[in-house]
Amino acid sequence: MKEGTKKIDHLFLALVGRSLQTSVSLKEHSTFRIGGPADFFFEAYNLEELKQAVLFARDQKIPVYVIGGGSNILFADEGYRGLIIKNSSRGIKVFLESLEIEALSGTKLSELVDFAAQSGLSGLEFMAGIPGTVGGAVWGNAGAFGRNIGDILVSAYIWEAGEERKVKRDFFDFGYRSSSLKKRRSLLLSARFKVEKETSETVQKRVNDILSLRRLKHPPAGTASAGSFFKNIFMPDGQKIAAGLLLDQAGVKGLRCGDAQVYPRHANFIINLGQAKAADVLTLAAEMKGRVKEKFGLELEEEVIYLEANASML
Ligand SMILES: Cc1cc2nc3c(=O)[nH]c(=O)nc-3n(C[C@H](O)[C@H](O)[C@H](O)COP(=O)(O)OP(=O)(O)OC[C@H]3O[C@@H](n4cnc5c(N)ncnc54)[C@H](O)[C@@H]3O)c2cc1C
Repeated sequence: MKEGTKKIDHLFLALVGRSLQTSVSLKEHSTFRIGGPADFFFEAYNLEELKQAVLFARDQKIPVYVIGGGSNILFADEGYRGLIIKNSSRGIKVFLESLEIEALSGTKLSELVDFAAQSGLSGLEFMAGIPGTVGGAVWGNAGAFGRNIGDILVSAYIWEAGEERKVKRDFFDFGYRSSSLKKRRSLLLSARFKVEKETSETVQKRVNDILSLRRLKHPPAGTASAGSFFKNIFMPDGQKIAAGLLLDQAGVKGLRCGDAQVYPRHANFIINLGQAKAADVLTLAAEMKGRVKEKFGLELEEEVIYLEANASML
């Protein structure tokens, strides 16, 4: 370990109580399985560690970026010149009187959906099969089948400029795949969602039905991707045009650049066939965008985040 790196590690250990990892391959932390090494990496197992690690980066003027499941991110081939914090602060609580369920932001969505189903609490089923954490889902207002996580969020704890506070749903200004967290650069610590009481069999059946539907449309489990690559388009009159449909008609299915390929059965998925580089994905995405622009005059916008090596969330 270099002298400068050692010093940073010692300081981190003194503040947070656990060591930083150095030169960690981001491939291992992305569902795309793409990305070079992060200079520093830390997996936070609780909210205190998460906050302390961010404060440390801020004080030491080290670029920092918090990830959840890494299921909506394309890491750069150069990796990351700073500290990547993986939020694994997990926990779920039920409030039966108010019919609410609360999850820490590093809880996996799948864990939350399963827990609700087993507890006979409905309302979260539409999120079955969406990878990633509660934090990432609220950040991007994740959703499926016409419903989004923002529709059921009641209140949350956020952390902004070093201060923790409780906020209501309005704070998030939810829109299609967007929330105020994106602009304000605040962190989600935990969130409470509205649920209804039903039998666990009924809820589980709905979850299973949704998982079956997703299996029909999506690449098989284990395929490396980051989900839909582009956002759907909403016309000024509110009409929704699926990005997948435009891409399909623009003839991109099966296009390939290196090991990055447009999934042959769903034109809005880019998959990594094995050794794809971020550069391959970016080249392929530019081609897809260009073809849609040429054919329809419409500009697709990326849903997947490309994290540049020098970006910082602070
Ligand atoms: C096979 C597949 C299918 C998918 N299907 C869907 C789908 O149906 N619908 C859908 O909406 N998405 C879908 N996605 C995309 C992805 O799963 C969602 O966007 C998910 O919510 C991302 O969560 P994450 O924890 O992985 O976030 P990450 O990818 O780790 O991070 C995404 C962003 O969230 C920010 N973030 C993470 N945690 C926090 C936090 N605690 N506070 C503040 N910001 C935070 C990160 O900084 C980053 O900017 C799919 C992805 C895959 C691979």
